Amino acid sequence: MKVTDIHIRKTASPITVTDCFVNKGLVSGGHASLPDIDVDYASDRRQEIKEYLEERYNTAGRRRVFSAGTFTTMQLKAALKAVGFYDVVEVAIGADLCTVDEAHDFLEEVPGKLNFMATSCCPAWSMMAKTAFPDLAKNISMTMTPMVFTARMMKQKDPEARMCFIGPCAAKKLEASRRTVRSDVDFVLTFEELAGIIEAKDVDTSLLEVDEAEALHAASAAGRGFAQSGGVAKAVADKIKEWHPDMDVKIASAQGLAECKKLLMLAKAGKYNGYLLEGMGCPGGCIGGAGTIADPARTAIQLNKYVKEAPFADPEQSPFMSEIHVLKDDPDFEI
Ligand code: SF4
Repeated sequence: MKVTDIHIRKTASPITVTDCFVNKGLVSGGHASLPDIDVDYASDRRQEIKEYLEERYNTAGRRRVFSAGTFTTMQLKAALKAVGFYDVVEVAIGADLCTVDEAHDFLEEVPGKLNFMATSCCPAWSMMAKTAFPDLAKNISMTMTPMVFTARMMKQKDPEARMCFIGPCAAKKLEASRRTVRSDVDFVLTFEELAGIIEAKDVDTSLLEVDEAEALHAASAAGRGFAQSGGVAKAVADKIKEWHPDMDVKIASAQGLAECKKLLMLAKAGKYNGYLLEGMGCPGGCIGGAGTIADPARTAIQLNKYVKEAPFADPEQSPFMSEIHVLKDDPDFEI
């Protein structure tokens, strides 16, 4: 829907976005998600508008107004350092290790020991699978998630470091509290929470100095692609195909827990024998996670750009690949 004309008027009490959409029939109009609304202001009056919104909506001791900007990865890294983080690494380095490990897992298990294998990198999906389909728990890959691979790797380099995972995922908070994970990951913040911290610390990102020498250049295109639905299964299937060009790895994926459940019901009924299944708890994958503050469609465009900028395509080229032995605690694990 294209909005061509907007009138702003003051009302006695603040109205909510949901009020607007429900009253205008937009929510029941078949939209998968609420419309993304952009309003452009004259740049010399931004501060004035922000002050007005803060006065009007930051009521009853609640802070509801914050500035969200589009950062480059380097600006974001600088902002994280400005609010107190010591260093930043991209979790896609863990995704690279996850790809190789899951590819090995699939080759070892399917079809000899298991009819199909499901990826493990989304904790919401794997938890749902294990609780709603306990007899299929063994079909979920035992590979650690990119968050755990990355955090464990960094902790082994510096045992004193405190690790904080920052992403769009609310389920990672639960994952980080698991007995086997809590010593690797100390904190989990969503993007929404991070935006609140940057705002509360009054960090003006336009004034931050960006050090290009600190660019994030250690993950493959495939690893970066994990954040989008279909990306995990494709990375793993491509790796298997590279090792075994004659092998046909069939993949199926689902996004959103309702669709994930249907996928597993069909798998249980034998419809996906020999398949690699990918489940993502959020629509579109992590780019549509509960803690995101950006429109998933736009994030997908940015993500694809970031994938193209990756310094290499193949996860096995990761400079961290040799560490997979230590991380897995498995001396017989072969790359
Ligand atoms: S799909 Fe959603 S729940 Fe799953 S890992 Fe990504 S953000 Fe988390």
